[in-house]
Amino acid sequence: MKRRVPIVAVRDSVIFPRTDTLLSFGRPKSISAVNSAFQSDRVVAIFTQIDPRSTDPEKEDLYQIGTIATITQMMSTEGEVHALVRGQARIKLNEVITTEPHLIGEVEELSEEVDDSPEVKVMSQKLQEVFKRAINMGKQGEIVTVMKLVAGAPDPLELTDEVASLLDIKVSERQKILEEINLKKRLEVTLEKLSAEVNSLEVERTITVKTQKRFEDQMKKQMLREKKKSIEEELGELTEDGELASEDIKEYKAKIKNAGMSAEVKEKTEKELKRFSQMSPHNPEGAYLRNYLDWLVEMPWSKTSPNNVSMKKASKILEDDHYGIEKAKERILEFLAVMKLKKEAKIKEDKSEVHPTILCFIGPPGVGKTSIGRSIAKAINRKFVRVSLGGIRDEAEIRGHRRTYIGALPGRIIQGIKNAGTKNPVFMLDEIDKIGTDFRGDPSSALLEALDPEQNKEFSDHYLEVPFDLSEVMFIATGNIIDTIPVALRDRMEIIGFPGYTEAEKFYIAKKFLIPKQFRAHGFDKKLSISDTGLKEIIARYTREAGVRNLERNIAAVCRKVARMMAEKKRYPKEVKVPDIRKFLGPQKFTSMIAEKKDEVGMSTGLSVTPFGGEILFIEVSLMPGKGRLAMTGHLGDVMKESAQAAHTWVKSHYNILGLKQNFSEKIDIHIHVPEGAVKKDGPSAGVAITTALISALTGIPVKREVGMTGEITLRGRVLEIGGVKEKVIAGHRAGLTTIILPKENKKDLEDVPSEVKKDIKFVFTEGVEEALKVALSSWPDRRLKDDSYIPIFSQIAAN
Ligand code: ADP
Repeated sequence: MKRRVPIVAVRDSVIFPRTDTLLSFGRPKSISAVNSAFQSDRVVAIFTQIDPRSTDPEKEDLYQIGTIATITQMMSTEGEVHALVRGQARIKLNEVITTEPHLIGEVEELSEEVDDSPEVKVMSQKLQEVFKRAINMGKQGEIVTVMKLVAGAPDPLELTDEVASLLDIKVSERQKILEEINLKKRLEVTLEKLSAEVNSLEVERTITVKTQKRFEDQMKKQMLREKKKSIEEELGELTEDGELASEDIKEYKAKIKNAGMSAEVKEKTEKELKRFSQMSPHNPEGAYLRNYLDWLVEMPWSKTSPNNVSMKKASKILEDDHYGIEKAKERILEFLAVMKLKKEAKIKEDKSEVHPTILCFIGPPGVGKTSIGRSIAKAINRKFVRVSLGGIRDEAEIRGHRRTYIGALPGRIIQGIKNAGTKNPVFMLDEIDKIGTDFRGDPSSALLEALDPEQNKEFSDHYLEVPFDLSEVMFIATGNIIDTIPVALRDRMEIIGFPGYTEAEKFYIAKKFLIPKQFRAHGFDKKLSISDTGLKEIIARYTREAGVRNLERNIAAVCRKVARMMAEKKRYPKEVKVPDIRKFLGPQKFTSMIAEKKDEVGMSTGLSVTPFGGEILFIEVSLMPGKGRLAMTGHLGDVMKESAQAAHTWVKSHYNILGLKQNFSEKIDIHIHVPEGAVKKDGPSAGVAITTALISALTGIPVKREVGMTGEITLRGRVLEIGGVKEKVIAGHRAGLTTIILPKENKKDLEDVPSEVKKDIKFVFTEGVEEALKVALSSWPDRRLKDDSYIPIFSQIAAN
């Protein structure tokens, strides 16, 4: 039977059918999966991670056979969820349908091969007997379970699974037992392992008597190791020259053989292994050395995915997975084409190096940067890894800590490569715009070395100590804004902008991708749909963003509500319409920003680009009697402050055409404020908007509310070119502006603006700030009514 269920990944344990286990979860994805299961039918699929260290496991990181279980009880403590689960059956993981907000997969129950031959009976009695002995020797177990297994005649199926779950063996061995569907064979292995354990317990008992209880907690680990060694001696597992040929050393030797290391790396690893084998078990360094050896043998020294790019396939994958973003797709395909040609040239001449340039995707959250990165990996058949650089200040985060350092680990680059498992993955470096520098070194210079094709053939990680070849990695960096990326890094990268979507684009993305994806994740069939007006309602009233992340979340929320209605056998809408949306998502979160406002004195609408995409911002100017001071508040950057100074100067020198008194500024203080949001606002492009708000305040003439503006101004009032036109115009459109004032030099940029946005907006191009004022102010100062009783009191001080 196939079914769709939430998946939780567990580390270091294997859950068996017919057993009860208490599991604790801390990772958000696991918590989400458990909660979601607990709220519906309480069924989860549990799979064990192949490598306990992977933090965000995907399908290939899990053993493909696991256990389907029901959650019998659940409890949350701070940051953790504890669940009592009852294993039901062995299952196979067919496919993972989604990974957000947690893994959901299609699983299939495995049927077990059971026979009730006399042989099975005898073996099962034997297993019970040996288990009794183990308990007598001091083996630990849940008292209720032990009672159940020791007394009476338990069912062989249950007995085997319960005992297997209590064995003291490695996770991989335990997984093997889980994967065995033949009961007889399972009985055999379980019996064999349990007998071995009883033997060790016996030996241990005699030794424990001899070993004094001198070492407490801290020494306990070492003592265990000593015991292990003694056990091996006792069991006679010694080589001819008297050295201990422990399983460990043998295993490492085999791993070194298979790791595909270069001669240099191999020599180093063997040297360290020798040191390890001679180390006294009392030496605490042993644990660190073991960790180091693990890293060395597990790095993909020469493992690669086949390097073949089919342009046709790549183009199809990019097209199938993403709507719109044509420019980005085109650039990516060009890039892949160049990569392909270079590779072919290399094969021919066999001397020119393949130097991939580095792509850098810049754009607000949720515009598909990560997902297109994944598609690239898929298109060229490579593995995909993602590492976030956000907040890194320490060089060691990139390049690793030296081994002398307690708790040392390799840096994030090497960690990423190990997770990928190949040396030529697509490697995404997220938040490259958020790395910093301080006294612990400059992470960007280490990053440069990793990215630089001249140097990265021999990338040196402090922990690894031996160089690793990164030259075949395809790096893709991502960030929200370009300005904060260190210049040296920026120079190495080919920047591709993701400007954000219009409402119409979001509509199609949702229809074509997000809704089908969420429906699949929630197991809905074709009978359900969301109406077009319903979808538009979600886009316009429940989200305000450049990307589609919240949109996807809201669609998921709608799906959850419907799923619950289905599960509770209540009536649910076959087509989700506007009223249903309001019922499911609560009151509207956004209304049109501009429609709410009226024409106001001293307030203008500017356009800016923030890390979250284009935005409109309101600039407020108020006046008070004073001495000509200029104050600014609202989290402004220095460049923006300079713009305000320039605006102030221009106004002072043009008092006459504005109908102001010559010395107006001597008697009033001006306060400029840019409200809303904790995001730091900076850049020169607010010049025109600041000037407009200032003149409006001084003259008392209101600014038209539906006019937005952007442009840098000089002291002489010239309007200069600015960046981010597409983002700003889309944001203005979203907010409901009908007129947008742009610098004349930016006329060319309108080409990039989608036509469905352009048709709703009147664009005015200006060279001088006066032209802008004529459009933005509701009348021109010198034609102002002579009866100026409506002018605010402080404007009267300024006006002539
Ligand atoms: P980013 O990395 O830019 O923050 P993501 O790649 O995480 O954004 O995108 C968020 C979600 O939106 C993903 O589920 C992604 O598949 C979807 N998405 C974004 N852009 C598109 C698009 N053009 N077509 C289809 N789906 C998209």
